[in-house]
Amino acid sequence: MATDGTADIVVVGGGMVGLASAIALKDRGLDVVLCDPGEARARTSYGNAGVVSRGSILPMSSPALWGKLPAYLRNADCGLRLHYAHLPRIIPYTAHFLAAARASRWRRAAAALLPLTTAAYPAHERLAARAGTGDRLQRTGWIKAYRTEAAFAAAALEREILASHGVAFEILDTAALRALEPALVRPYARGMLLTETGSVREPGRLIEACEALFDALGGRRLRSHVARLAPEAGGWRIDHDSGTVQARQVVLAAGAASGAIARTLGYRFAVAAERGYHRHYALHPDSPPLTRPVLDTGAGSILSPMGDHRVRVLSGVELNARRAAPDHTQIEAASREAAGTLRLGGPLDNAPWLGSRPSTPDGMPVIGRAPRHTGLLFAFGHGHIGLSTGPITGEIVADLATGRTPAVPVAAFAPERLLRWPRLL
Ligand SMILES: Cc1cc2nc3c(=O)[nH]c(=O)nc-3n(C[C@H](O)[C@H](O)[C@H](O)COP(=O)(O)OP(=O)(O)OC[C@H]3O[C@@H](n4cnc5c(N)ncnc54)[C@H](O)[C@@H]3O)c2cc1C
Repeated sequence: MATDGTADIVVVGGGMVGLASAIALKDRGLDVVLCDPGEARARTSYGNAGVVSRGSILPMSSPALWGKLPAYLRNADCGLRLHYAHLPRIIPYTAHFLAAARASRWRRAAAALLPLTTAAYPAHERLAARAGTGDRLQRTGWIKAYRTEAAFAAAALEREILASHGVAFEILDTAALRALEPALVRPYARGMLLTETGSVREPGRLIEACEALFDALGGRRLRSHVARLAPEAGGWRIDHDSGTVQARQVVLAAGAASGAIARTLGYRFAVAAERGYHRHYALHPDSPPLTRPVLDTGAGSILSPMGDHRVRVLSGVELNARRAAPDHTQIEAASREAAGTLRLGGPLDNAPWLGSRPSTPDGMPVIGRAPRHTGLLFAFGHGHIGLSTGPITGEIVADLATGRTPAVPVAAFAPERLLRWPRLL
């Protein structure tokens, strides 16, 4: 097997989290190798909604789950699609998820995530300025839109928690929402505008620009798939498709593939791939532009402007094997609903894009040192907020790798919590 020599540290995975980590590690003066097969569309960081919000502190495992469970189990809510044949493979994830769906746990997760999401936008600004993509990051705010007063009332706990943490938002009635975002033709009962929020137009372009920045900093990229991480005296041997690298440290940032890689080292994380789809549509030429992302809570889908009068329609969560054949049920439903919300033309891409959110059951990422291996850092499991919190995670990883105390507290993100069975009471 060919050798690519040595490095101080190898980063496995070149999505938002891995790239940001690799750049921050270069900034600390380390010799960094980044391994990723390099298929842009295979990265979840390529195809997301681009929302970067301080208010993204409320995990999917919410107390509201229990009321929605009958519809979820029948696949009658387009926000979630279950593939029953896959469920036995994610029993630990599901057990943790159900245990986390309590108000007390929701509040605790929100408090732990707040410093991370608060640091997310400034970290994006710093990275975008260096990568030359500052014009793609716009502080637009984003809207959660409710079709009925009942749906709005059901989200009262969310508003209470956000307010208790000083997260800024404005409540809009039908007319105010229409005035703010005239592209919306659906008469929503209420909207919540989260103002401390930016959005990235075409997140894939940010990823490409970060690759170029890493190259310019002298980082080495291997367009290769890591097959094995092997601990050896004084460090690690990283076997990949076309060779091997030796390094003192490794960062596992392979998104939804991280759980399977960690398993080869004996770590059985309660994690899952939450699959999601997108499809682009042109807005009708006579429609006003959509100026900020909108979550249609009634459809469980996001409508995100991508520039050039284009909108990216994104689906909810599909629980299925990461590599299973695409199931377009949800994105087709989301697209039909979107056609009632915006004046849309036809789809702009041949087939929907599919990505996998690297999800943990408590909605918090795994960031920290591996409990049983020296020189192994975990940075995955960012679920629904990995585009936004990727850049700050990179800075945290670089601090941990160089023995500094991160600016953001990370105790709540420790790997250990997902390596044991949950306490149900
Ligand atoms: C529909 C949808 C909408 C979303 N909207 C938002 C949003 O608005 N805001 C937000 O913050 N987040 C959003 N997310 C979530 C966000 O996209 C993810 O959390 C984030 O992209 C995860 O980044 P990552 O770097 O961990 O993973 P990825 O971007 O998936 O990167 C992982 C990388 O690891 C590589 N890899 C895998 N296996 C190996 C291996 N063996 N060797 C080497 N490399 C490997 C892959 O090729 C890939 O490039 C959304 C996700 C979806 C699906």
